[in-house]
Amino acid sequence: MTQQTTGKKLPAPKRKPAPQKPEVEVTLPSALTVKQMADLLGITPIEAIKHLMRKGLMASVNHVIAYDDAAAVATDLGRTPVLKQEETKKKEQEAPAPPAKQAHVSKKEAKAQKSRPPVVTVLGHVDHGKTSLLDAIRHSNVADKEAGAITQHIGAYQVTVEGHEITFIDTPGHQAFTAMRARGASLTDIAILVVAADDGIMPQTLEAIDHARAANVPIIVAINKTDKPSADPERVKQQLTEQNLLVEEWGGDVIAIPVSAKTRDGITSLLEHIIIVAELAELKANPELSARGAIIEAELDNTKGVLATLLVQNGTLHAGDIVVVENAHWGKVKAMFNDKGERVNEAKPSTPVEIMGLSAVPQAGDSFTVVASEHEARALVEGFQAKQQAHKPKAATLGDISSQIRAGETKSINLIIKADVQGSIEPIRTSLDQLKNDEVHIRIIHSGTGNITESDVMLAVASKAIVVGFNSRPEPRATRFAESEGVEIRNYQIIYKLVEDMEKTITGMLEPTYIDVTEGHAEVRALFKVKTSKIAGCYVTDGKVARSNLARVIRKGQLIHESSISSLKHFKNDVRELPTGSECGIGVEGFTDFAVGDILEFYRKEKQ
Ligand code: GDP
Repeated sequence: MTQQTTGKKLPAPKRKPAPQKPEVEVTLPSALTVKQMADLLGITPIEAIKHLMRKGLMASVNHVIAYDDAAAVATDLGRTPVLKQEETKKKEQEAPAPPAKQAHVSKKEAKAQKSRPPVVTVLGHVDHGKTSLLDAIRHSNVADKEAGAITQHIGAYQVTVEGHEITFIDTPGHQAFTAMRARGASLTDIAILVVAADDGIMPQTLEAIDHARAANVPIIVAINKTDKPSADPERVKQQLTEQNLLVEEWGGDVIAIPVSAKTRDGITSLLEHIIIVAELAELKANPELSARGAIIEAELDNTKGVLATLLVQNGTLHAGDIVVVENAHWGKVKAMFNDKGERVNEAKPSTPVEIMGLSAVPQAGDSFTVVASEHEARALVEGFQAKQQAHKPKAATLGDISSQIRAGETKSINLIIKADVQGSIEPIRTSLDQLKNDEVHIRIIHSGTGNITESDVMLAVASKAIVVGFNSRPEPRATRFAESEGVEIRNYQIIYKLVEDMEKTITGMLEPTYIDVTEGHAEVRALFKVKTSKIAGCYVTDGKVARSNLARVIRKGQLIHESSISSLKHFKNDVRELPTGSECGIGVEGFTDFAVGDILEFYRKEKQ
C-alpha cells in the first residue's frame, strides 16, 4: 500500500519546505535498493523510480540496483557520486534482505514468480469522464491502421507503455468493482479515480474513494477535463486533501495527474504513473502454473454458445484447457480470443481473453480454475453441489460479530452508515470513536446521506460489514439483495441506541437480535372510514401481506409510522394472507392518518 488510507486527520496542505542546499557529493554503495538510493539522494521512491525509468531501467522499491545506475541518477540531480570504500568486504552482509512479503514463498516458487501487468479499474462520479478516459487510453495506444481491430469489446483490454502492459477493466464505476469483490474476486491492483476539474469532488467520488479504500488498492487520481476553461485542478487537489488524499507535490504520496480525455493531454503521463505504482506494488504471478482467475463478463450467444471474458490472475490459460467455474460447472476452452478479437492459444497472468466452451453462463466475479482432466472437473462439481445444498455461507450480523468478539475471533466491527442528513454523521462518528479500545475497533468503511442503496449492501458483502441506517430507508432492491446475501441492515432513530448496541457488541454482550424480513408492499389507493377508525384501501404491489405482519407506513420515501396490522380484509371478509395483485383493506395499529399514494411495507421479525 502506498497510499494514505487511514481516517486520521491530516494537517492543512503545505508545500514541501524548500530543500536545504544538498551537499554535492554523495557516497553510494556498489549495490543498493531503490529505496536506499532514494533516501541517500533525498528524493521519494516514486521520483527514484521515475529517474530510473527514464534511463530505461524498470525497478521497484526493493529492487537492488548497481552503483553505476544510482550514480547516473545522482548526476542527473546535480550531485557528484562517490563509490563507498571497503564495499567489497562488507557487501555480502549489506545485501538487502529480500522483500518481506516473499518470505513465505518457497525459493523455487519465488524464482518462478514473474512480474505481471497491473489490472486497473476506473472509478468516479457520473459524467466525470470515466468512459471517455477508458476510450482515450484505448486509442492512445493504437496505430491508426489497427484502430478498427480494437472495437472488439470483451470487458477488458490491454495497452503497452514503454514495453510494459497495463490491463484495464472496461466497466467503470465502483458498483461493478464492488459487485466483483462481493463475489470474492479481487481483480483490481490500482484504482484510477476520475475527478472532473470543473466539477470537483462529488458524492459518488466520495463513495468511490471509500470503495477503493475498502478494497485496499492504491488510488491514482486523474483530474479530467482540464481542457475546459472552467477547470480548476488546484481546487480538486485541495478537496482531495480534505479526504486524506494528499498529493505528492504537497508532501503526500497520492499521484494526481491532470488529463483531458477529449484532447488526450496527460494520458501518457497517467499511463507512466500507473507503471510506477505497479512497480511499487511488485505484482507477481507464476506463468508456469495452471491458470486461475475470475470472470469479467459473460453472455449467451445464439450461434457461439457461452462467451465468457476471463482475467487470468495466475498461471497461463491454454486453448483446450478444462476450466471449472466456481466449482459449479465446467467446460473446455474451444477457442480463445484477445481484446483485439484475434485468436490466441495462450493467456498469461493479467491477460483478459474471451473464451468459448463453458457449459453455463457464469456471473461477473465468479472464480475459475484449470484442472487436469474432465474426470477431475466432474468430481469437483459434484462434490460442490452436495456441499452447496448443505449450507450457504452467510454474511456477518452484529450478533455474530458480538459472539466472535467474545470468542476472541475478531477484533473489528465494519460499518456502513447512511443517514438522512450530513449533520447526523459527524456526531455518530464521534460517539463511535469514543467506544474504541485497544482490543476492538469500529471501522466506518463508508458513510453518506440518502437511502441505503444496493451499492451499500454490495460493499457490506465485500467487506463483511453491517449496514446502519440512521433515519434512512433501504431502497427495495437493497432490501432484496440484503435478504438474499444475509446482510444485516439495522435501523436507528436515536444515536444513543446505536452507540449502546455497538458497546454491547464490543463487549461481546449483544443478545441475539431479530432481523426484519420484508414480506411485501402495498400502495394506498383509497381511504375508508370505519366507525372511528380509518382503513386504507390498498393494492398489494409485490410479495404478500399477512395479518400477523408488522407494517411501516412510508410517505414520499420517509417512514411515518410503524406498528402491527390491526385488520386485513378482502372485500368484507377477514383474511390471514393475500398475495401480489390483491385489493384489500388494511388497518394499522395506532394510525389513521393514511394518504393516497402511501406505501405500506410488511415485514416479520426473525431471530438471528
Ligand atoms: P462517465 O459517466 O464518467 O463515464 O462520463 P463520460 O465519459 O460519459 O463523459 C461525460 C461527458 O463528459 C461526455 O459528454 C464527455 O464527452 C465529456 N467529457 C469526458 N471527458 C472530457 C474531457 O476531458 N474534456 C471535456 N471537455 N469533456 C469531457
